[in-house]
Amino acid sequence: MWRETTKHERNARVFNEELDAFLPDKILDFHVHIFNEGVVPADDAYSCAGHDIAKYDFDDFDEDLAETYPGRDTFAVCFGTPHVGYDRARNDAYVGARCDRERFFPLRLFDPTEDSASDLRAALGPDRFLGLKPYLNYVRKPDPNDVEIHEMLPPRAMDIVNDLGLIVMLHIPRKARLADPLNQRQIVELCERYPRAQIVLAHVGRAYYLKNIVGHLDALKGLPNLYFDLAMLNNWEVLEYLFAEVPADKVLYATDFPIAIAPGKAVEINDQYTYVTPVPWDLSISDDHGKLQFTAFVYEELRAIKKAVDRLGLSREFVEGLFYANGMRLLRSIG
Ligand SMILES: [Zn+2]
Repeated sequence: MWRETTKHERNARVFNEELDAFLPDKILDFHVHIFNEGVVPADDAYSCAGHDIAKYDFDDFDEDLAETYPGRDTFAVCFGTPHVGYDRARNDAYVGARCDRERFFPLRLFDPTEDSASDLRAALGPDRFLGLKPYLNYVRKPDPNDVEIHEMLPPRAMDIVNDLGLIVMLHIPRKARLADPLNQRQIVELCERYPRAQIVLAHVGRAYYLKNIVGHLDALKGLPNLYFDLAMLNNWEVLEYLFAEVPADKVLYATDFPIAIAPGKAVEINDQYTYVTPVPWDLSISDDHGKLQFTAFVYEELRAIKKAVDRLGLSREFVEGLFYANGMRLLRSIG
């Protein structure tokens, strides 16, 4: 069983000793991937931090929420898994149908090479999908590192998002991530050109190591329609810097389930980062010697959030905003 939840005694101990007293009653996860049976081609599998899975549906997710956050009321923003070659229409149909917009809130995958303006008009709205989840691979450039933000989000899509005041869950491209000057410029342009669009920078702009964030929030922190999601951030120094720099209501708790309930941790080494996992994974260094006992990425993230909050002496109100109120206010503002 690859899922590191409180079903395992080792994780129950982490939860009880370190997290239970810290976590508020209500938890809204702003970044969750859901994919039903049949989305991943039969001859393929999704590698969840090195564990192959064929689906991650709402039944799986519901069970994991209960076992990850015992005793909490849980909510989530959900979207499909953006892979060229997966069945996007099937994935969106399932997510859209199963989200009740009270507990689970759907975003629609967006492929700029296939989706027309009329497709989007029909799919988006306060009682339909609440926004878009674009992805760099959908641009289909030979090197995904060359993708630019406006190619992921052409005007025909952003005009509709802006008209309806919807959300964009933006995983920024390019090797230098948050520190990339072109990304910086295009994030500012996107927010200013489409002021009614609510832009969420996934993974804090993928700044998983300290040098990637220091000095790189200055142009962004004043944008009224830009938010920062914490998915897969395991680095307390990055979080401490973020919490100190940006307005408190712009920080959104998020995880990247199902990856985040796999065992592992993101670590910083010499101004870079990698994941460390117990089993081999494309994005990680793995513990071939079996030296470590791991817990889930999500518990490492929660430890890092707690440490940053403690070091800055932030209030209970900050914590409740981060885990629930900020995100719910954003969701309720739609339509
Ligand atoms: Zn994600």
